[in-house]
This record gives sequence, structure tokens and C-alpha cells, in this order.
Amino acid sequence: MFRDEFIKAIPKTDLHLHLDGSLRLESLIDMAKKDHIEMPSYTEEGLREKVFKDSYNDLGEYLHGFMYTCAVMRTPENLERVAYELAIDNQNEGVRYIEIRFAPQLHIDNMSMSMEIILEAVNRGLEKAKKEFNRKKEIVEGKEPSFNYGIVACAMRMFGANFSPYYGSFYGLHRYSRPMEIIRMGALELAKGVVKIRDKMGIPIVGFDLAGQEAGYPAGDFIDAYNFIHRNFMHKTVHAGEAYGAESIFQAITDLHADRLGHCYYLFDTDKITDSEIENKQKYVDDLSSYIAEKRITVEVCLTSNMQTNPRLKNIKDHSFGEMLKRKISTTIGTDNRLVSNTTVSKEIKLAVENFNITPRMLRDIILYGYKRSFYPGSYLEKRKYVRSVMNYYSEILDRFDIKDCNNG
Ligand SMILES: [Zn+2]
Repeated sequence: MFRDEFIKAIPKTDLHLHLDGSLRLESLIDMAKKDHIEMPSYTEEGLREKVFKDSYNDLGEYLHGFMYTCAVMRTPENLERVAYELAIDNQNEGVRYIEIRFAPQLHIDNMSMSMEIILEAVNRGLEKAKKEFNRKKEIVEGKEPSFNYGIVACAMRMFGANFSPYYGSFYGLHRYSRPMEIIRMGALELAKGVVKIRDKMGIPIVGFDLAGQEAGYPAGDFIDAYNFIHRNFMHKTVHAGEAYGAESIFQAITDLHADRLGHCYYLFDTDKITDSEIENKQKYVDDLSSYIAEKRITVEVCLTSNMQTNPRLKNIKDHSFGEMLKRKISTTIGTDNRLVSNTTVSKEIKLAVENFNITPRMLRDIILYGYKRSFYPGSYLEKRKYVRSVMNYYSEILDRFDIKDCNNG
């Protein structure tokens, strides 16, 4: 029903997009050669065969590639380049708003690479791509929505001393603390840093996220960092329900004040609930999903990535996205990692419309949630104006492709 040209033409978003998982393969090779970084192969075919595959045996294999991408992302020039190219790749497939997330502490190499320098470099790349795109005649004349972006800072749910030189020093300086205390302090330090950098330097750091291994590291451990973010009016998202189920999701939206949720894959799985106090597990899941739907907490769904990291999930039609749609939960489609998952926003939307029962009205809602529930860097009034320009443009495209049944869904 939805032709490829239509999917390309609609003004899309990507709210769940990791910078370090979304490099161009040729650029990764180029930077590794330039900076003498050791790689298992220096050809695109070689790396596709050995590291960045179409399917993975487990999460460990999926995460392996980040070792190489992070290794090249430790100079301001490379960070700027990676951010710029990612914005351009999105623009080229009709994505008009992106939120790029990454863990600044993973990229701090030594004291000359401070958090400020890292965020400035990424912002320079994104800003350059934005300015170039928004010079387009149709945008200047107000006929099409402009390209915009925000930066989301990720705290690591778990980090070891070997994760980056910065984390190594962090462990070294806190020799008398337990690892979990160190991890919690690392998240709080990041929260303080990004709020200061946003306020002092005007960099559009719009959100805070908790990423990395979920099992063994419950959201509740990060209350201090999230409270700090909350008090400073920064938006919040949390990777939740990837390894844990409903209770972890509940913690994210209550204790951590999450406005959005990453993945939420196990939201409906009663067997993932371990709290013995919850007697009626089905009722708990029903109440929770009703609450999420009513509060318009938006789930960032990344289909390909979930297929790759959940070996149990054999058929995409069994993905919980179908149930989210049935229960009218607000969802948006993201890529997670364009390189590691070998995907694009258009591919993900195509996967969604081909495998789930999505009417034109539903697709329009999903796309618009990407704008409405974005952490847009501007006032609420500016955001409303931007969303309005997207809605008008979307209607024009529906007319152009002669798609009509937008009122029944
Ligand atoms: Zn993610």
C-alpha cells in the first residue's frame, strides 16, 4: 500500500539513533587508517563479514563493533565528521529531525579531550549539515519543514575501567568505592556536566539517556543523576525493557521521570516480572501499558535491532510492536544503529508497514509522534510551529500520492 517513493517523501524523524553505531563504513576505515587504529579488516566486505553483520548470535557479538567505532571517535575532527555525515545521510532519505545520542565519557581520551570539546565537535558537525540543508529555497520560503536536531547524552548503566581512558581514571580515583557506587557517580557527574555545557555554551543537549547492559543494573540505581536532570528541565529517555520487563519500565517512568522509553520490548511479558509482591502479573502489565498509553509516554521502537539482539525472536510479526499498536501506545520508529544494524529509517518504516497492520492514519500518527514527542531544542511555542509545518507538508505528500483514508484508523 505504501510505495517506497512515498516512504522516502514523508518528513521522517529518528529519535533513537546512536552516533557510535551509525558511522559510514568507508569513513570508519578511512579514519582508522589515518589514525593507525588496528582493525580486523580494512575493506568494507571484510568488516561486513567479520564485525558488522546482518544477523548476530547474541548481544555480545552485536556490541563488539562499538569497540572499533569508539576507537576512531576520540579526536574532535573525527567526531565532527561522523556527526556531519550522519546528519547528511538522514537528510538524503528525507529525515527532517534527528536526536543523536552518545556517551561523552566514552570518548574522553585524555585531559585535552574534555566533555566540552567533544560536545562542541559533535554539535559543529550537526550544525553545519543543518545550515547547508536549510538554505534550500523551499525551506527559506516556508513551504517545507526545516531540518533540526538535538543531542541526547547517554550515561552508561554499566562501565568498566577498560571502557575508555576516562572511565579508567574514574575507577583509579575512587579506589575505595564499590563498582556500583562508581557507576552511579559517573552518571551523576555526566548529568552535571551536560547541564552546565548546555547552559553555558548553548549546545542543544536536549535529553539524558541510560544505555548499555540492562541486566543486573536496575534503573533505580540512577535516581540521583535523573533527579538532577529533572530539576534542570532537561528531557529524559531510558533504555528499558530490553532485558528486564515491566518492573524496569515502571521504574523508568516513575523514579527516573522518563518522557520516552527505548525499546520496551518486554513490556507485555508476564514471565519477565520477578517481583513476588506482584500477584496478578497480567493485571500489572495491563495497568502499566494503559498508564503509558494515557500519559503519552512514547516508545522508541527499533525493529531490526531488536531482531538482532533477541535470538528468541524469530518472526518479526511476533515483535511486541504489534501489541503496542493494538493498545494505542504512542510509538516512534528509530534505527538504533545504522551501521551495526545495517539499516536506515526508510528500511525500518518499510519493515513496520509490511509486517504490521498499519493504516495511512496510523502511519501518519507514528511519524507525527516523532515530532510531537521529540525533545525539540526550543520553546514549546516554537515546537508547535515546527510541528504544524510538518503536518502541512505531510498532508501535501498524501495528496501527491493520492492517499486518502486518513480519517479512519
Ligand atoms: Zn539504543
